[in-house]
Amino acid sequence: MNAPNKSGWKPSMQVADATGDSPTTTGNRALMLEEPLLFEIGHTEVTGVDLPEIDESASTRLGGLDRSEPIGLAGMTEPETVRHYTRLSRQNYGIDLGFFPLGSCTMKHNPRLNEKVARLPGFADIHPLAPQNSVQGALEVIHELGDWLKTLTGMPAVAMSPKAGAHGELCGILAIRAAHEARGDAREVVLVPESAHGTNPATAAVAGYRVEDIPATPEGRVDVAKIKERLGPDVAAVMITNPNTCGLFEKDFRTIADAVHEAGGYVYCDGANFNAIVGRVRPGDLGVDAMHINLHKTFSTPHGGGGPGSGPVVFSEALAPFAPLPFVRRDEDSGTFELVEEEAREESRGHTFGRMTAFHGQMGMFTRALTYMLSHGADGLKQVAEDAVLNANYILRSMDDILHAPFADSGPCMHEALFGDKDFGGDLSTLDLAKGLIDEGYHPMTVYFPLVVHGAMLVEPTETESKATMDQFIAAFRSLVERAKAGDETLKQAPYFAPRRRLDETAAARKPKLAFEG
Ligand SMILES: *Cc1c(COP(=O)(O)O)cnc(C)c1O
Repeated sequence: MNAPNKSGWKPSMQVADATGDSPTTTGNRALMLEEPLLFEIGHTEVTGVDLPEIDESASTRLGGLDRSEPIGLAGMTEPETVRHYTRLSRQNYGIDLGFFPLGSCTMKHNPRLNEKVARLPGFADIHPLAPQNSVQGALEVIHELGDWLKTLTGMPAVAMSPKAGAHGELCGILAIRAAHEARGDAREVVLVPESAHGTNPATAAVAGYRVEDIPATPEGRVDVAKIKERLGPDVAAVMITNPNTCGLFEKDFRTIADAVHEAGGYVYCDGANFNAIVGRVRPGDLGVDAMHINLHKTFSTPHGGGGPGSGPVVFSEALAPFAPLPFVRRDEDSGTFELVEEEAREESRGHTFGRMTAFHGQMGMFTRALTYMLSHGADGLKQVAEDAVLNANYILRSMDDILHAPFADSGPCMHEALFGDKDFGGDLSTLDLAKGLIDEGYHPMTVYFPLVVHGAMLVEPTETESKATMDQFIAAFRSLVERAKAGDETLKQAPYFAPRRRLDETAAARKPKLAFEG
């Protein structure tokens, strides 16, 4: 323990707090209010709304489908409901509250300008079924955003409708399947390197392919020789995450792509980590056939509650005809924009596999992402990538003297720094350290992913964090690493100061309590 412990933490503080119950009668801590479950404070006979009694005729119209017993859900009055959810929301943690070093997810600031533009009534109040001549501005936004994505990636076609990264992967793989089938060459296997994101094998399996692993080299990159060995007439595609989930750039991507094409396969690139290379590398130049881009990562649109994400997919010349409908086309003569739907299939995308969504994608995310691009400009986006990489390397080099950094010798990292738990003492684990970070006021980094590193900790600071923020985080992180290495068992009980103490995560996943009993 030679580095200074800047966090000011003393074991006695935590132990005292852990042993004593809350010192207040209410369970509240100053103005942070304790909040029980809805089921514990609600009553079945209370409701926030008064509905008219259902009469005989309505009951008849329902044809006997109306409920005969009360449903028994706990209700609350409107003010109680508002307070319940507002109190819960204050226990939430998000990017607007503090640093969120979640690896592989690019949790960065959502600029307020984006929000302002997205809320303009001309964008916010339109309907997907509105006549096209009444929503020309919205179609132009979709078209222009698509143009930016094509330019930044060096790819000729784009599908805007997929609603998340994983949805984009499915879109890309379905286009690859359609391309193989169009030439009567159904193939069965998709190769996925160990360093890929977990959604890649899941996507290939959902699309009906058999997934085969390709090992990583000791330096954390795809094993090119192993891929070349495995390629053959049964391989439909290779899915490679670049930069990969070890935080490294796949330097041999072009060689791999050439070999895959030679063997008649297609190259899918998981572009969720595009933040690290935007403006610096054009995936089209690397031989990519399809790649999704997470607008909610690289282009700063909000993450949240499982949506709304947006995962447009760019396509190579070879795959473009198989891209899904609809897409927006600009009529060069009139300058108007047109949404090309099913009926135009023949002349446009001759062999499209169909649609990914009922409508055209996430309009609110399109306006935000385009605002972000226009406010940065092409040079600003390049700066984004450079700053994201610089920040990640700052974290890596501020920690690699005390924490196992398996790929520290593989050259600079990209947008995220990867560590392992190799030197922890006692039976302390990565989980204990992550819980300790909560006490220090940080959302933990991604843990136990990627799987190739034991007890992995993946830190992605992004370009939006200042040096001061990172220095504070590093001080907290270092103090926890020192405790873990010293075998400080009090960490096993962390978090001490969160609204809830450590949960049994296995039971929560295996035996979730989804209904109120008694
Ligand atoms: C986030 C992520 C995905 C999945 O994207 P979602 O929008 O969460 O579906 C896929 N691959 C990588 C590398 C990612 O980081």
